[in-house]
Amino acid sequence: MCNPSIIEKVRKRISRRNLLKVGATSAAGILASGCKSIPKSKPNEITPESISFNQVVDLTHTLHPEFPAWFTPGVERKFGTKTFLPPAIVEVERVMKFEEIKINLNKISYWEHVGTHMDAPSHFSEGSTVDKIRAEDLVLPLAVIDIKAKAERDPLALVTLEDIKNWEAKNGPIPQRACLAMNSGWANHVKTPKFKSLNSEGKHQQPAFHIDAIEFIKEERNVVSIAVDTFSFDNLHSPENDVHYSWLGDERWGIEIINNLDEVPVVGATIVVGQPKIQGGSGGPNRVIALI
Ligand SMILES: [Zn+2]
Repeated sequence: MCNPSIIEKVRKRISRRNLLKVGATSAAGILASGCKSIPKSKPNEITPESISFNQVVDLTHTLHPEFPAWFTPGVERKFGTKTFLPPAIVEVERVMKFEEIKINLNKISYWEHVGTHMDAPSHFSEGSTVDKIRAEDLVLPLAVIDIKAKAERDPLALVTLEDIKNWEAKNGPIPQRACLAMNSGWANHVKTPKFKSLNSEGKHQQPAFHIDAIEFIKEERNVVSIAVDTFSFDNLHSPENDVHYSWLGDERWGIEIINNLDEVPVVGATIVVGQPKIQGGSGGPNRVIALI
């Protein structure tokens, strides 16, 4: 028999560091066995040490009917020759109610690209849909480029090639297989009109990526994903969605409306993207976290 404090220590080790690795069944077995040591990993497995972390940061906004989106519900949008009528941002219909039958079950509907969400390659190309993205590509080193100072002065500020060069001069090359995220401070404006920053023609203004920066990380670096804390990788500087077509068209993906980038280091965190695996999906709301 172990004393309770040792069992508690084992429990913490399992829940904090090993649950990901050993799985719930073996974790339960370890707990049940009390003092038995945690099994050693095979040489080619990710060891618990290599995925260790001290902190988890939620990079996701809560999605609700009033959450800002690039469209206005009920206001027609024209794309090419076609006109579309956007639905509610998100609609949660209570189908089963706990107070009636002791079960809650909802029917949820939304256009895919709302809240914190993925743009899969297929959003702007004939490339992969969300279900085809490999699980190992959803866990990546996170690199954050902070452009808050210039975004404060200009809602159409861009992450430029120069910003990337300056970032690398300070922090070293963008990590291999990174997710490169823009922190423009826009996540802090999500509850105010500044998030849309409508101009006199009613068009959105928000920071985004410059196409030259995108071409550089495509050609010269090994970046799997980009992320922005705004509606879009593009803004009015690239009204034809150059960044979307270039990046997604190259069988890459990204995250829009990411949150809480102020709480992660510029380099050193790991991003984990919990993307629902819906067949044929062009993207969609997800839960994104950072492990530090
Ligand atoms: Zn999108």
